[in-house]
Amino acid sequence: MKPIEGPLNRVAQSIDGAQMFGQVERWAGINSGTGNLDGLREVAGQLSDAFSALPGNITLEEPGPVTQVSAEGQEVEVEYGKHLVCCVRPEAERRFVLTGHMDTVFPADHPFQALTWLDDEVLNGPGTADMKGGIAVMLHALKALEGLSAWQKVGYDVMINADEETGSLSSAPLIERLAKGKYAALTYEPAATPEGTLAHARGGSGNYSLTVKGKSAHAGRNPREGRNAIVAAAVLAVRLKDLQRDDISVNPARIEGGAANNVVPDHAVLRFNIRPKEPAAAEWFASEMNALLGEVRQAHEVDIHVHGGITRPPKPVDRRAQKLFDIVRECGAQLGQDIDWQSTGGVCDGNNIAATGVPVVDTMGVRGGKIHSPDEFMIAPSLVERAQLSTLVLHRLATGDAL
Ligand SMILES: [Zn+2]
Repeated sequence: MKPIEGPLNRVAQSIDGAQMFGQVERWAGINSGTGNLDGLREVAGQLSDAFSALPGNITLEEPGPVTQVSAEGQEVEVEYGKHLVCCVRPEAERRFVLTGHMDTVFPADHPFQALTWLDDEVLNGPGTADMKGGIAVMLHALKALEGLSAWQKVGYDVMINADEETGSLSSAPLIERLAKGKYAALTYEPAATPEGTLAHARGGSGNYSLTVKGKSAHAGRNPREGRNAIVAAAVLAVRLKDLQRDDISVNPARIEGGAANNVVPDHAVLRFNIRPKEPAAAEWFASEMNALLGEVRQAHEVDIHVHGGITRPPKPVDRRAQKLFDIVRECGAQLGQDIDWQSTGGVCDGNNIAATGVPVVDTMGVRGGKIHSPDEFMIAPSLVERAQLSTLVLHRLATGDAL
């Protein structure tokens, strides 16, 4: 194990666990479900205050426009909270992007709202691990680094979005803009296991709503004049499921629509999710789906409108990304932390960052577990542990050879 050099060691040792912990408690104490715009506004305000400790310009960015398809087949606009951006030294030649999210999966009326200690080190609470703990890890690593002159030669953008848990639909353009041209990216999702394992390659994800319009008719008097949208949607569901292969899964999830028993139904909405493992599988699926839509349109004489698509591109680990993983492992070793990684079917903003060609490790946040459930927990000592890890990794990226 190589010892950490003097000043870097000093700043890593100076990270204040008590302050981090107080922040996580405060932030997790405010409900910020993706749809709770008031709660998100409050958390964004607290985060703006906290990140003003960095020498950057903080802005709250308007969410991009997003629509969804209602059960009746109408496109309706969805409201989201604003996304926080902190821009530090935009003129620097080598710049990073660090991302997190302030929203959680727990709406304001969910029973899981309180923080409870499970033992001396384990805190149960909404968003503790996913990812208010991770936001504190990011902030305190950056604060520590700002004390080093070598770090001040580089710049970075912090982006904390308000819609990650529903797929980052209103922040995806912002993520893309901020990621492009960056040297490397770190995202502060919790580690993939309570032991601290990182998520390596990730599959992608796409969500679709197919709105099928047929023609209504009386089921007894003139059924042949009708064009049955429910039947067409059912055929689509079965045929789409048949497109599943080893490198892509397809999940028809819901069919809405229909009418009374004596009416040929003229509308239906079919919703489904796909999980391509590789970009090639996603492309293959798109062309197969197009052909299938054409076939069903013709055979059933219905109109089909496609809404949605791939919003989380697959995240393979290329050579430069692997180098970044290796650096995280080496820095972990300097701190006496064993860092391992594994592939996962889960998706996050790391997928969107990787799609811009920027190397990313997206599970730099705390150790914890049971996320997205009322058993979610954060292992409190991992706040300092992971902040020290990020400090070393970022310092190495700032001062080391090119990735
Ligand atoms: Zn998360």
